[in-house]
Amino acid sequence: MAEVARLRQKETHIQVSWHKYRYNEHEEPLMREYAEKLGFAFVPYGTGILPHDRAITEWRTGVKDPNGEDCLVPVADARQLCLDRKDWPCTLQNQILVIDGQGNHTNCSNRSDVFNVRGNLFDTTVPEIFRKRKKDPACLACKAVGGHIYALQEYTRSQWSPIRIAETVYRTLGLQGRFPAFSLWATNHLYLRPQMKKTF
Ligand code: SF4
Repeated sequence: MAEVARLRQKETHIQVSWHKYRYNEHEEPLMREYAEKLGFAFVPYGTGILPHDRAITEWRTGVKDPNGEDCLVPVADARQLCLDRKDWPCTLQNQILVIDGQGNHTNCSNRSDVFNVRGNLFDTTVPEIFRKRKKDPACLACKAVGGHIYALQEYTRSQWSPIRIAETVYRTLGLQGRFPAFSLWATNHLYLRPQMKKTF
């Protein structure tokens, strides 16, 4: 981090995204202080168990995932929050493409297992990959229960925040990183559900 700060150009925005778990709560103030001392933005996020299929399995079976204890919001409690937001778009589905060294592309960037591989980039096109994802059975099943909301930790966000819509437009127009100060302010002041503000 110190080296990045040393090499930083004046117009470069650098953000430290902190994943909040129960076991690292005591370290957060230390990292915030260090990041801010270097001139980086510091944004803490709620977290969950990954891949998010594990949360979906817990919702379906009622059997608790042992790592769920590390999350600030219990997996079971996140279920309804995700369901309430299941019609929100999935950024992973719409914008993120993972390709390995052989050109194999995956469906969901949140998973690394072999069942997630969908083919080779050299046999298709990028627009075709994104088009097919819209009807991929794994995505349909995931979105039906708000699994993508869990994957992106978006259940920590206010359900009716106009900023969510603004963010969708912002991403669609490819403006990420163009207004970092506004993004930071919006994340901290407009996104988080009131309950999460207290927790976080
Ligand atoms: S809808 Fe679910 S499975 Fe599909 S890309 Fe999004 S998070 Fe992954």
